[in-house]
Amino acid sequence: MTAKSLFTGNESVPADAIVLFDGKDLSQWKHGNGDPASWKIEDGYTVTQNADIVTKQVFGDCQLHVEFWLPLMADSFGQARSNSGVFFMGFTYEIQVLDSYGLDSKNDDCGALYSVIPPLVNACRPPETWQSYDAVFRAPRFDEAGNKIANARVTVFHNGVLIHDDVEIPHPTPDHNAPDPKEPGPIQLQYHGNDVRFRNVWVRPL
Ligand code: MG
Repeated sequence: MTAKSLFTGNESVPADAIVLFDGKDLSQWKHGNGDPASWKIEDGYTVTQNADIVTKQVFGDCQLHVEFWLPLMADSFGQARSNSGVFFMGFTYEIQVLDSYGLDSKNDDCGALYSVIPPLVNACRPPETWQSYDAVFRAPRFDEAGNKIANARVTVFHNGVLIHDDVEIPHPTPDHNAPDPKEPGPIQLQYHGNDVRFRNVWVRPL
């Protein structure tokens, strides 16, 4: 019995992945209000502008790959320095995107589960270089009465370095009082006023 190969050569995306952005168009995305995704596309990447974008498809448990590039903002600091974000289940669980190069990472720095859990280590590359997140996300679980019986969990590699090792996410990260979603939701990329670039985004439902 032969299995279908995930790779036939040197391609970077496995054959069973859903390609969310291949550098050419944002047809897999929209804005939260339903409008077509309006981010700029140039040279195989997209640049954040106007508002966050969300995938048209929704996901629960999944593996996500995303690459990002942060502009050098030498006169800006903290949350104003090349801020964006990668979210699971809509605006619910954020892996922070920020220029935190060389910092002692806190729970709002790059790679943090925003405002909840700092990364295990600061794995940032300098600004103006391509970086990657590879994440395995597990959605929260509920019993038949709708009570949460298991928190969301996530494992994250930043530039190939383990920064979250199957950690529990106790509650949504932007708003700690928001309810954990019971249904699958979109992957969301954040527009935070800075010219952050994204490319090569793909997901594998698990
Ligand atoms: Mg952010």
